Amino acid sequence: MRKTFYIETFGCQMNVHDSEKVAGTLVGSGYRAVESAEEAELVLYNTCSIREKAAQKVFSRLRNFRKEQAKGKLFGVLGCVGQQEGEKIFDAAPHVSLVVGSASYGRLPELLRRLEQGERRVTGLDLDTDETFETEFTQRGNPFRAYITIIEGCDKHCAYCVVPFTRGPERSRTSESVVAEARRIADAGYTEIQLLGQNVNSYRDPAARVTFAELLAAVAEVPGIRRVRFTTSHPRDFTREIVEAMESHPALCNHVHLPVQSGSSEVLRRMARDYTREQYLERIGWMRAAKRPISITTDIIVGFPGETPADFEQTVTLLDEVGYDLVFSFQYSPRPNTPSLAMEDVVPEAEKNLRLRVLQERQKQIQLGRYQDFVGNVEEVLVEGHARENQWKGRTEQNIVLNFTVAEGGAAVQAGDYWKARVTHAGPNSLVGEAEGGPVARAAIRGAAGSPFAILQ
Ligand code: SAM
Ligand code: SF4
Repeated sequence: MRKTFYIETFGCQMNVHDSEKVAGTLVGSGYRAVESAEEAELVLYNTCSIREKAAQKVFSRLRNFRKEQAKGKLFGVLGCVGQQEGEKIFDAAPHVSLVVGSASYGRLPELLRRLEQGERRVTGLDLDTDETFETEFTQRGNPFRAYITIIEGCDKHCAYCVVPFTRGPERSRTSESVVAEARRIADAGYTEIQLLGQNVNSYRDPAARVTFAELLAAVAEVPGIRRVRFTTSHPRDFTREIVEAMESHPALCNHVHLPVQSGSSEVLRRMARDYTREQYLERIGWMRAAKRPISITTDIIVGFPGETPADFEQTVTLLDEVGYDLVFSFQYSPRPNTPSLAMEDVVPEAEKNLRLRVLQERQKQIQLGRYQDFVGNVEEVLVEGHARENQWKGRTEQNIVLNFTVAEGGAAVQAGDYWKARVTHAGPNSLVGEAEGGPVARAAIRGAAGSPFAILQ
């Protein structure tokens, strides 16, 4: 009988994809995935500690399961909380047997063997590595979008961020292995790829002189790949060559997520972001001057220590100046080990909360205006499934949700298809439209219909 496992994932796409690779590693080590923690013999939490709330969620999950220990289940904490708390997790949650940071996932088969041989507690917490986590199997959970990690860790050390402490130093994969994975993904029927890293722009092939822009071009040329996305870009390392690659390769989606964090150069300096408002706007200018329109989205932190009302106002005016299609905004959350923990002039919680609401309200209006500009356009949509009866949900090349209907008697729609739809209405978060003609390209993916997992070797 194969042992069973269940993984719950918290946090970003990097974590989602790490879980896909961990699941593949477990399957390769003789385990079988089940649908709930209750059914599983091994329960893993792949965790996020970017903000305090995210880290707390994990401990509340672990508390829920204390009683289960008696039933012979094994528990593991993977990822950023695992790396940050280390062996202290065993004190807080004595029923945990495995604590592994993302820089040690390559050691998982060995750590699992030690658990199976009866060791009560095992850890993988070494950060001092130049290796990336490459797996023989990846158990992909998203039937339409295949993730590929191209760079792990981060060397930037922004003053508020735990990532360099939880994911370790920056290390890139070879372009050869990235392109080979893209080919395997295309052969399995995927048409959309998303390249991942904390700062994809600082990608450097360790074996050849291949820049990020050149890697983008190489992946865009893989036969069968219709859409290539990438995240996250860092303004300091974002180059004109990336925009040029997007201009000359239609498979590179016309969307860039370029986190700004603040519109005030003074706050950016204290955040150690390594660019000014003006330098950020210069990058925006490159994209706005591109041969095809590029959709721009961002991340913003409000209430960083010392952020004055005038600094905050500069962030609000930046929203107007750039015209983002989506903004992920957060209240500053003090994190262990980070330099901003020791900074003075802490912004009170109530003020942070107020600034967040002001920012989100302004962005909602901007977004509605931007989405209304799509009305009348014909956009290509990758269909993900039903929005409601008789209406299909998909995403445009800019990653905007577009729900569309097909006229009576039109061709049948399948998830994974590409359709053209004319936009008829716009809300602040999505577009509505009507199909034009039949499918542009048909779903090719194995397992998209019934199985939640497409398994790739
Ligand atoms: N590497 C990316 C970058 O440079 O922007 C993203 C890193 S992080 C996973 C995603 C977002 O979380 C950041 O862009 C930032 O807006 C937010 N974030 C990171 N640390 C934070 C903190 N201490 N408090 C609030 N938000 C934070
Ligand atoms: Fe964190 Fe800055 Fe690295 Fe992004 S670039 S992961 S915000 S340290």
